[in-house]
Amino acid sequence: MPFADLGLSDELLRAVEEAGYSEPTPIQAQAIPSVLMMRDIIGIAQTGTGKTASFVLPMIDILSQGRARARMPRSLILEPTRELADQVAQNFEKYAKYTKLSTALLIGGVSMGDQVKALEKGVDVLIATPGRLMDLFERGNILLTGCSLLVIDEADRMLDMGFIPDIENICTKLPANRQTLLFSATMPPPIKKLSDRFLSNPKSIEVARPATASANIAQMLVPVGERDKREMLRQLLKSEGVDSAIIFCNRKTMVRELNKSLKRHGFKSGEIHGDIDQSARIAELEKFKSGEINLLVASDVAARGLDIKGVSHVFNFDAPWHPDDYVHRIGRTGRAGATGKAFTFVTKQDAEAIDNIEKLIGNKIERLDTGVTIEESDDGGAARGRPARGGAKRGRGKSEERPAQRERDDRPARGEKSEAGERPAREARPAREARDERPARAERPARPDRGDRGRDRPRRDDRQQDDGPDDGWNGPTPAFLNFGFDS
Ligand code: AMP
Repeated sequence: MPFADLGLSDELLRAVEEAGYSEPTPIQAQAIPSVLMMRDIIGIAQTGTGKTASFVLPMIDILSQGRARARMPRSLILEPTRELADQVAQNFEKYAKYTKLSTALLIGGVSMGDQVKALEKGVDVLIATPGRLMDLFERGNILLTGCSLLVIDEADRMLDMGFIPDIENICTKLPANRQTLLFSATMPPPIKKLSDRFLSNPKSIEVARPATASANIAQMLVPVGERDKREMLRQLLKSEGVDSAIIFCNRKTMVRELNKSLKRHGFKSGEIHGDIDQSARIAELEKFKSGEINLLVASDVAARGLDIKGVSHVFNFDAPWHPDDYVHRIGRTGRAGATGKAFTFVTKQDAEAIDNIEKLIGNKIERLDTGVTIEESDDGGAARGRPARGGAKRGRGKSEERPAQRERDDRPARGEKSEAGERPAREARPAREARDERPARAERPARPDRGDRGRDRPRRDDRQQDDGPDDGWNGPTPAFLNFGFDS
């Protein structure tokens, strides 16, 4: 089906053609006509499926009639992270170039002054992370009563990050007769509840996970001892004809260490993780996009949604704990029809994680012949000084282990501005506290009473075993986390 059959305006068709798209992706073909008919939508789709354009394109046509008024945005797009919000804003820039629509980005970690000024002028499209939006709302800088179109993007990720109470709150402040579009990779019960409560007779659209469509990514497992990982990485970087690569680590500490090591060895590398403030993150991404650096060492904060053209390789320096993260990580390569390669380093401790990944993607991943098997690959003394990854080895349940780890990567470090930016005493707000401490979706135990929330906090010991910096370990890596790597 050509784009011209979807009911979009000529100006938009021109912008789409200039973007180089010949035909709509399945989510676009199904969503765009319904959005133009003002229907509510539940889109079960992940990044990489073209879902951003599936709401941005019809929104541009819907909003092209009418004018923005001061402090009263006409539409609102909620994104879980600053990076995703920024990316959606770039999509608007690309597709709305033949219209006069104004957009404003409300994200934490950057000054509020310019954001308030933009709101004062009046904006057609407000793209926001929930924390900053609520802060500005509570300060009286925004009125949401003129907002007739709401997009809740990456709803399951919002759930992971504890944003659902904020979203519910925001929904009650918008006019009841608005149009609502909700996108989520999965539909866990809390998201279903949210859609039942705030969407009206929605059309459900489901498209295949990129995991099933990623035939253009060649995947390989690399059995390797923990102590040999860096050497192995350097070898592969040299032998594999890497144009540009994202290298994922499970911990921020490791991201920093590995980046330093690569630089020492003469590679052009940079780093991105949750402890780096927003302007530095954007600067690092720009360097990567422009080719000033061609290796980006990253935590999972960069795994979802980042759309960088021409990433030839993904390396999982650490095998991800969660199979979904694997799919997101490797999806940073092989985008928009290009081919890519994904190498995952595996020690014997990762056997269970790899099993789960292979179950999810429905395939055995080919093993690279490194001279050792996964079972033989030394875990570098993981059981001695490091938190066990699978949880089982050290007798700790998964729910105690991964969630804090995953969520912490998205949290600002102490001293860094939080999602709420300048707002002091953020932790005092129950919703925020919940966001920081609630376990991830899959492992979440029965919801505790509000009064019990404090008990959800990981014990000090547990937190220290993790990356640490968010809780005050911004200094050098403690000795027991150094595994005697070569450099
Ligand atoms: P998204 O799922 O929105 O993150 O989009 C994933 C990638 O697909 C982005 O690089 C888009 O620019 C690209 N894209 C979106 N729509 C199309 C299309 N119809 N044809 C080809 N590429 C597209």
